[in-house]
Amino acid sequence: MSQFSSHFSYVNGVLHAEGVSLATVAEQFGTPTYVYSKAALLANFASYADACAGRDALVCYAMKANSNLAILDLLARQGAGFDIVSGGELLRVLAAGGDPRKVIFSGVGKSVAEMQLALTHDILCFNVESIPELHRLNEVAGAMGKTARISLRVNPNVDAKTHPYIATGLKANKFGVAFDDALATYRTAAKLPHLEVTGIDCHIGSQLLDDAPLLEALDRLIELIDQLGSEGIVLRHLDIGGGIGIQYGEAGEADPVPVGDYLGRLFARIDAWRAERHAGVPIKVIFEPGRSIVGDTGVLLTRVEYLKHGEEKNFCIVDAAMNDMSRPTLYQAWMDMQPVVQGQSEAQTYDVVGPICESGDWLARDRALAVQAGDLLVMHCAGAYGMTMSSNYNTRGRAAEVIVDGSASCEVRKRENPADLYALESRLA
Ligand SMILES: *Cc1c(COP(=O)(O)O)cnc(C)c1O
Repeated sequence: MSQFSSHFSYVNGVLHAEGVSLATVAEQFGTPTYVYSKAALLANFASYADACAGRDALVCYAMKANSNLAILDLLARQGAGFDIVSGGELLRVLAAGGDPRKVIFSGVGKSVAEMQLALTHDILCFNVESIPELHRLNEVAGAMGKTARISLRVNPNVDAKTHPYIATGLKANKFGVAFDDALATYRTAAKLPHLEVTGIDCHIGSQLLDDAPLLEALDRLIELIDQLGSEGIVLRHLDIGGGIGIQYGEAGEADPVPVGDYLGRLFARIDAWRAERHAGVPIKVIFEPGRSIVGDTGVLLTRVEYLKHGEEKNFCIVDAAMNDMSRPTLYQAWMDMQPVVQGQSEAQTYDVVGPICESGDWLARDRALAVQAGDLLVMHCAGAYGMTMSSNYNTRGRAAEVIVDGSASCEVRKRENPADLYALESRLA
C-alpha cells in the first residue's frame, strides 16, 4: 500500500516500521513521534556509497536535513562525512563520533567564532560564499597560525525547476559567487596567505526530480576548473552539492531520478572530461545529499484528537502541528497522510490540522481519510526537514524520536517537557 520506502508497510492492516507496529510505538513512546527506519537509512546511504565504490569520492551528508545524533552516528560508521552550516552542527558531528576531517562547512554567514571552532578541529574545507568571507577567514586563520582549506561556492545560474524557496543556484539567490565573478574571486583567494584553495562547489536547489540541471551545473564547474588550471590554480576536489528529490506521493508528481542513475551519468561525464583534458590530475568528487538520505526513512506519527465537521470543510485535528512539521505551511509542501490501522471507517475529506493558534497550522488539505477520534495517522516521508525545523511555538515540547531496527525500537530523543522549554528563562529580580 505505501509506495514509499519498503521499510514501512502494512502487516495485517497495521502499518509497521520494519518489524515494529506503529501502534506499539505510539503506546510505548506517545505521540507525536518521529519514527525512523535504520534499514531505510542504511539503504539510502548505500545507494550513494555503492555508486562511488572504487572512486575518490566522499558523501558529506547535509545534516541540516536531520541532525539527530543517532542518525549521524549510523552514517559516520558507514564512512559518511558531513556538510554543516553552523558551529552547532560541527559540535553535533563531534558528539556523534564523526570525523571532523570529513566535514565541509557551507553557509553565507559564518561567524568568527564558527571559523575558529572549525579551524581548531581541522575540518576538510570551508565552502566560501563571498569575498568578505574570504578575507575574514584569511584573518582568522592567520591569527591562529593556521591555513584554511577553501572551496568557492559558485552559482552556476542553472534553473533547478523547483520551489522558489528551495532553488538556490539562480542569480537572484543569496548563495554563492556569481559564475562570471568566479575566476576573479579565485585569483583573490589564491593570493591570500592563510588560505589554501582546494576545490569548487555548488548547490543549485533541493527536491530536484531530474538530474539534467545538476549535470548542467557540473559542466559549468568543469569549465571553471579547466580555466583555473590554465592559470596555475589547480583544484583537487569538485563538490556538486545535494538536491536529489524523493517521492512524496502527490498525484501527478514525476518520479525522482534514482541516485545510482544520476551518479552513473555524473561519473561518466567526469571520466570523459578527465580522459580528454584533465588526465593525471586527481580530483575528489564530493556530494552533499540531505533529503535523499533521510527523507523517506521517517514518518511523523500522530493521534487524532477530534473530528470537526464544518459547513465548508471537515477538520481532522491531530496532536502534531506546524511546530513539529512546518514543510506544508512553509513551502506548501504536499505530504501523504495515512491511517496506521486500515479500513476502520468510511472515508471522508478532511483538512488535517494541529492545535496551534494559526490558520497556517495545517499538515494536509482535502484528503480522503477513514479515521475516527483516537486513531493514529502517519505523515510519510517526514525524515528530512521535519524535526530539524521544529519549534516550540505555543510552548509545545518537541516530538520524541525513535529509531526502529528490525523488531527493536529505541528512543533516540526524548519528548521535551514544558519545564525544558523555559529552563533558560528567568523572572526579573
Ligand atoms: C541544504 C543543503 C544541501 C542538502 O540539500 P538536499 O536537497 O537535502 O539534498 C546540500 N548542500 C547545501 C549547501 C545545502 O544548503
